[in-house]
Amino acid sequence: MDIIVRATAADAQIRVFTAYTKDMVEEARKRHNTSPVCTAALGRLMTAASMMGSMLKSDKDILTLKIESDGPIEGITVTADSKGFVKGYVGNPNVILPANKVGKLDVAGAVGVGFLDVIKDLGLKEPYAGQTELQTGEIAEDLTFYFASSEQIPSSVGLGVLMNRDNTVKQAGGFILQLMPGVSEETIEKVEKNLSNISSVTTLLDEGKGPKEILEILCEGLEPKIIDIIPVGFKCNCSKDRVSKALISVGKEELSKIVEEEDSINLHCDFCNTDYKFTKDELVELLKYAK
Ligand SMILES: [Zn+2]
Repeated sequence: MDIIVRATAADAQIRVFTAYTKDMVEEARKRHNTSPVCTAALGRLMTAASMMGSMLKSDKDILTLKIESDGPIEGITVTADSKGFVKGYVGNPNVILPANKVGKLDVAGAVGVGFLDVIKDLGLKEPYAGQTELQTGEIAEDLTFYFASSEQIPSSVGLGVLMNRDNTVKQAGGFILQLMPGVSEETIEKVEKNLSNISSVTTLLDEGKGPKEILEILCEGLEPKIIDIIPVGFKCNCSKDRVSKALISVGKEELSKIVEEEDSINLHCDFCNTDYKFTKDELVELLKYAK
């Protein structure tokens, strides 16, 4: 089961999120039939979004992470709710690239050069939006840079997705560690030392270490305190009912035109790759409600 562990350490001078997200990444892979490098890229961004979603304060808040870049993956979009449930997709799920210099899936090569958009819909008139330039395209470093430059929160982000030989997801997870205002030099030194002991998230996960163990490694000597452990996962909130409402909202004039010209229409949800078919009879029925 996918979970996020939320914790503080060093008398709340640090806050830490660690995540196990294998099921949500595998679910995304199955829904979108993503190639291994696309699964890794999407999985890393979904893992980060899940943790960042759980940072949102209000139940209805929504977080969107969007990578707009020039690589063959043609962008990645992920949305998370405040409970850490996520949905997402890539522009082109079929990218195949040779392994990178260290023999890993070449996420940076698939992503290319571009920007990371962080959009938080906090129920206000205008959503909060921050845009930063991608630093490496490996996603974790790009988020670290976003936190430092856009939110002024020194952070360390680790994300990893490991594939099985049959291209299903073997392991996925990550962490976000953030230094709170007033953090002492001594604490920073300990954090840096702990971080230097971590080779990669996938290595830890593959050694059988879960979010709690990763938390302990990150916070060695810093007395971590777990706040809560929450279940997370892949979740799309689309439904035929919601799509119907969207159709009604295009208005009487527009909808009559569709009824006249089409025998049936297909509406597609990008996030979960589901098609919703409407027959002429159904469209005629919806037209009654349109204004
Ligand atoms: Zn959907």
